[in-house]
Amino acid sequence: EIDTATLQRLDAAHHLHPFNDNAALAKRGTRILTRGEGCYVWDAEGNQLLDAFAGLWCVNIGYGRRELGEAASRQMTQLAYYNSFFQCTTEPTVRLSAKLAELTPHDLNHAFFTNSGSEANDTILRLVRHFWAVQDQPEKNIFIGRHDGYHGSTVAGASLGGMKGMHKQGGLPIPGIVHIDPPYWFGDGGDMDEEAYGRHCAKRLEDKILELGPERVAAFIGEPVMGAIGVYIPPRNYWQEIERICRKYDVLLVADEVITGFGRTGEWFASQTFDFRPDVMTLAKGITSGYIPLGAVMFNDRVADVLSGRGGELAHGYTYSGHPVCAAVALENIRILQEEHIVETCRNNIGPYLGEKWKALAGHPLVGEARFLGMVGALELVPSKPSRTYFPDRGRVGQLCRDFALQNGLILRATNDAMLLSPPLVISRSQVDELAEKTWKALDMTAHALGM
Ligand code: PLP
Repeated sequence: EIDTATLQRLDAAHHLHPFNDNAALAKRGTRILTRGEGCYVWDAEGNQLLDAFAGLWCVNIGYGRRELGEAASRQMTQLAYYNSFFQCTTEPTVRLSAKLAELTPHDLNHAFFTNSGSEANDTILRLVRHFWAVQDQPEKNIFIGRHDGYHGSTVAGASLGGMKGMHKQGGLPIPGIVHIDPPYWFGDGGDMDEEAYGRHCAKRLEDKILELGPERVAAFIGEPVMGAIGVYIPPRNYWQEIERICRKYDVLLVADEVITGFGRTGEWFASQTFDFRPDVMTLAKGITSGYIPLGAVMFNDRVADVLSGRGGELAHGYTYSGHPVCAAVALENIRILQEEHIVETCRNNIGPYLGEKWKALAGHPLVGEARFLGMVGALELVPSKPSRTYFPDRGRVGQLCRDFALQNGLILRATNDAMLLSPPLVISRSQVDELAEKTWKALDMTAHALGM
């Protein structure tokens, strides 16, 4: 037995937390989580918290599903590990490849496995450049990403992303990666209607391709809905316009579906929600509902044919690429999503209900915009309505609201001053009611603290 205070002391002394001011955290004391069931987690002090963020956009089937533990245990006992390097592989790995080929749209038929979303995005940087090089176009090697995009924390992932704070640490982006502005209507849309704004934002890609020269541009990468920066939902026509431009200049289109994959936007994949055809798709998080680390890259036939046929040895891979235990857990997770019709229930029933409740929060004086799609959303907190202005010292008010939510037993994430929503897909109507009530209360407490 080890008491909570001791754990907190050891944590402060020995554990560097990602994306945290660790000195401030040490003073505050880390919350130790001990248990999870459905949409709730419990901490060591016995507080029950409704998790409106599904861990980190990942616990799609909810906490506490024994079947996943049993699948892991069965596979660990039978064959805990083997790699796919030595002209061999394992049954769960093959079955998962085939399952992903079946689930992902169009001809994304070929899976390459990684341990995380960051590694999946690293993988595309190398393999897409290789794709062009073996076709005698080595100079077609520039990637275009978006400012404020998030594609992970490895050197390539953080470079493909456009988070300024991350670029500042470690001298990023690496050469050969440039960024365009993303669609962010609240901050940037002005008087444009949705369609005009969608075209306007997509044209930024065409302008950048023409500036660089199409013969130098390998690929465009984007999150269909930008998550980490604040759930920026693009105009309906944006992705189709992006696809048209990519086709026109023969630039590969990479959809980072690490957050949006496995039901988050109301379809299995957001490229189905927005009706466009990526050449490459990166996946992680919801692939195992976060129960075990796993990422994947899905390549379409055209890219895979070049990589596997003319490319010679694929000089890329990880010790744990296609780890059989992770694959077994992913298969069990996907079985549950399919057999319990979780994605369909979100699309037809719980998603619209959650959307209605979430959008009603726009009635609060602190909320400038309530964004929502499928099972994901954000509230943009503002000092005054209806103006689209921000609080000075951006981020402070969001953190205040996040802390008030926690006091009320609700986990919401804050980015800048946007409150982010991404609950487990299995949330019930009464839990949606609880979520909306607690969010409103946190907004009230925030407004009160600000003297509004
Ligand atoms: N891509 C997107 C869109 C993400 O949101 C994330 C993580 O939040 C990643 C990639 C990186 O995934 P991981 O943290 O598994 O490396």
